[in-house]
Amino acid sequence: MELSLTPLNEWGLPVKNLLLSAGPCSAESEEQVMATAKGLADSNISFMRVGLWKPRTRPGSFEGVGIEGLDWLTRARDEYNIPIGIEVATPEHVEACLKHNIDIVWIGARTTPNPFAVQAIADALKGTDMPILIKNPISPDIELWLGAIERMHAVGLKKIGAIHRGFSSSRQSIYRFAPNWKIPIELKRRLPEIPILCDPSHICGKSELIFSVAQEALDLLYDGLMVEVHIDPTKALSDAEQQLTPKQYHSLVDRLTLKRELSDSQEFKTRLKELRTEVDHIDNNVLELLGKRMEIVQDMWALKLANNVSALQPHRWKEIIKSRIEAGQDLQLSENFIFQLFQGIHEEAIRQQADTTDEI
Ligand code: PEP
Ligand code: MN
Repeated sequence: MELSLTPLNEWGLPVKNLLLSAGPCSAESEEQVMATAKGLADSNISFMRVGLWKPRTRPGSFEGVGIEGLDWLTRARDEYNIPIGIEVATPEHVEACLKHNIDIVWIGARTTPNPFAVQAIADALKGTDMPILIKNPISPDIELWLGAIERMHAVGLKKIGAIHRGFSSSRQSIYRFAPNWKIPIELKRRLPEIPILCDPSHICGKSELIFSVAQEALDLLYDGLMVEVHIDPTKALSDAEQQLTPKQYHSLVDRLTLKRELSDSQEFKTRLKELRTEVDHIDNNVLELLGKRMEIVQDMWALKLANNVSALQPHRWKEIIKSRIEAGQDLQLSENFIFQLFQGIHEEAIRQQADTTDEI
C-alpha cells in the first residue's frame, strides 16, 4: 500500500537531519518537568516527550499524573520554546491534547495491538493535522503495526511516523525488549514513505546500552530517536534504570554519527557496483543450488513414499543441524544463523514433499 504522507521537515517541528525527541518517561511534578525542559532547552530536540497516562503492565505502579500535568507541559513549552509530545491511549486523551495545543502525540506499545483503541484514537484525530507516531506492538506482529498506521492514514492524517521500541521475547537477552531489527526493516520495505524512529530506552532498559542501539539505528538510516531523559533518573517514578540525565543526553547526541544512504564519490560508486555484482552472482549460485537440492528432495520423497517411509526423519534432521553448524563455524557463520537457515530449507523441503503427494 502506498501512503501519501507529509515529509518530516514539514511537520511544523524543528528537524535538522533527524527527528529527535527526549524527555521523561513520566511527568511527576511541575519542578521535575521544568528542570528537565531547562536541561534540554539548548539541545535542538524536535519535541520533548512526556508520559501523562502510563499504561502499566501490572496495576499498582505509578500510573501517571494525568490531565493535571498538561498545564506544566504548556508552561515548559512557553518558557523554553520546546514543542511537546504526549502518549495517548483514548479519545479523551486526544481531546485534552488538542485543547492544550500539544504539538505531537504517540500511541504506546500496549495500545497499538488493540484495533478498537487505535480506531477510537484515529476518529478523535480526524479532521486535524496532528502529527502522530505509532510504536510497535509489544508482540512481534508486524501486521498490527501496519494496521495501526493504516487506520491513521485512512482518517486523513498525513503526518505519520513509526517508533521501533523493541519486542517481547522468550529468549534471555541483555535487552529489556529484543530489537528484532528485521521487523522494522520489513516495515520500511512495505511502507517506504514512513519515517521510522528508534526508542533505544525501552529496547535497552539500561542507560549504558543506549548508545550502541541508537548508533545501530542511525547506521540503518532511521529518521530519528526518542530517548527517555529525566532530571534525576535515580528518583524517577517509572523506568528509572533506562533514563539519561540531560547532560548524558547531550553527550549521547554528540557521539552519534550519521550515515548517509549514498555517496557522490565516483570511486565509491564504481567499487560498490563491482561488489554488488559479485554478491548478485553468488546469490544466483545459492538459489540454483537450493533448487537442485529441492529436486533431489523430490526424488527422495518418491523413494520414501514407495517404501511407506515418513517425510520427516528426526535422526537425519538432528545430524544435519549438528554437522552444518560445525561447518558454519569454520566460515565464521553464527550458530543461530545456520540454525535458522536450515530450519527454513527443511521447512520448504517438507512443504514441497506435502505439495507433491498427489502427483507422485
Ligand atoms: C513510554 O514511552 O514511556 C512507554 C510506556 O513506552 P512503550 O509504549 O514503548 O512501552
Ligand atoms: Mn517509559
